[in-house]
Amino acid sequence: MSSESDSRACKPCSIMLENRRRECLSSSDPEIWQLTRAEAERQRTHIELIASENYSSPNVRQVMASELTDKYAEGYPRHRWYEGCQVADSVESLAISRAKKLFGAEHANVQPHAGSQANMAVYFSFLKPGDKILSMDLRHGGHLTHGHSHNFSGLLFQICHYGVNRETEQIDYDELRDIARDFRPNIIVAGASSYPRTLRFDRFRAIADEVGARLMVDIAHIAGLVAAGVHPDPVCVADYVTSTTHKTLRGPRGGFILCKSEYGSAIDKTIFPGMQGGPLMHIIAAKAVAFREAMEPEFKIYAEQIVRNAKVLCESLADKGAKIVSGGTDNHLFLIDCLPLGISGGQAAAALDRANITANKNVIPFDTRPPHDPSGVRIGTPAITTRGMTEPEMILLSDLIWEVMTNSDDEATIARVKSQVLEMCEAFPVPG
Ligand SMILES: *Cc1c(COP(=O)(O)O)cnc(C)c1O
Repeated sequence: MSSESDSRACKPCSIMLENRRRECLSSSDPEIWQLTRAEAERQRTHIELIASENYSSPNVRQVMASELTDKYAEGYPRHRWYEGCQVADSVESLAISRAKKLFGAEHANVQPHAGSQANMAVYFSFLKPGDKILSMDLRHGGHLTHGHSHNFSGLLFQICHYGVNRETEQIDYDELRDIARDFRPNIIVAGASSYPRTLRFDRFRAIADEVGARLMVDIAHIAGLVAAGVHPDPVCVADYVTSTTHKTLRGPRGGFILCKSEYGSAIDKTIFPGMQGGPLMHIIAAKAVAFREAMEPEFKIYAEQIVRNAKVLCESLADKGAKIVSGGTDNHLFLIDCLPLGISGGQAAAALDRANITANKNVIPFDTRPPHDPSGVRIGTPAITTRGMTEPEMILLSDLIWEVMTNSDDEATIARVKSQVLEMCEAFPVPG
């Protein structure tokens, strides 16, 4: 016992603390402890291709587990409802100033619990029930909060959608302008969950101006690419920019809003007291850590590699005969139409999962199958790029994915691929 505690004393104190906490959890709540270890093991032994997922840094995780979780800090820095918020004020002020600096924004609100709340806050800050939102068709890549009939957005507002062109499978901006002229929306929403192409924010802005609508850009997926300058910047042209912090930005699970100063106080009031109670101070601190990490030169290199990896993986699969929606990718993700292989997206994703490759089934534009059993799989490179994989691994991975997708009911093939996946996972460990 004493030799063990001696050896521990040599380690940095954060690791010591972490070990002591784990020891405690493993004996006092072995069920949850085991489950957290099982998730760590799953992450260690699987290749993660879900485009919205990533591995947060050890620093982000450490801050999420800090004492800040215990503090109630309803309100905003220097205007709180409870005493004892001096530290919380400093944490939130730092997160706000880093968000503004990273994205060049006039105003930032870092309190939204998730991306969905960020979107809700923008709508609620100036729309009345029944007002009009023009957004991307969910079946062409839009998000639930862009007007799904079971989501608050679709229940409360009049929704009209634009989509992609049947030929190019890319947004047709001329058609978007025609729809906007007819529909006269109060707000136009740009941004998507499964659109593999660069968004033309200049075109969105011009159309919004022409019809007198405000422009919101939802960068939940591409925030890391925007921060690193590898995707055009929406902040300078949009009235509002909403985002998550946990996708390409690689921070804690959460959301934030950037906007022009003139809309700042309406946004702040809508988040609190409008929609949320106490902010998650531990998460806000972790957002601050992530914003700082995204300012480092390494992050730009990381974001560039995400895009290069997506391109190489996508092109290599296309060379083998995969049918890629829109014929390629400009960002961190792409969609494969599985129908030419005689399988559904769900069957493809399930076969990949048996080979320890994790991806999700996804609707594709003009899908002939129902949304719960669609034709596509969505593949993204943010997480594997965090593990350090580069072009040679993308070539190898394209072989493995293609082998599984073209032999989806051959368990011998799947077992062979799985053993190669495990080798790759060994060679490219999850950081931390
Ligand atoms: C992920 C996502 C969101 C919000 O996600 P949460 O799960 O609520 O954090 C919003 N918009 C788009 C386009 C997304 O992809």
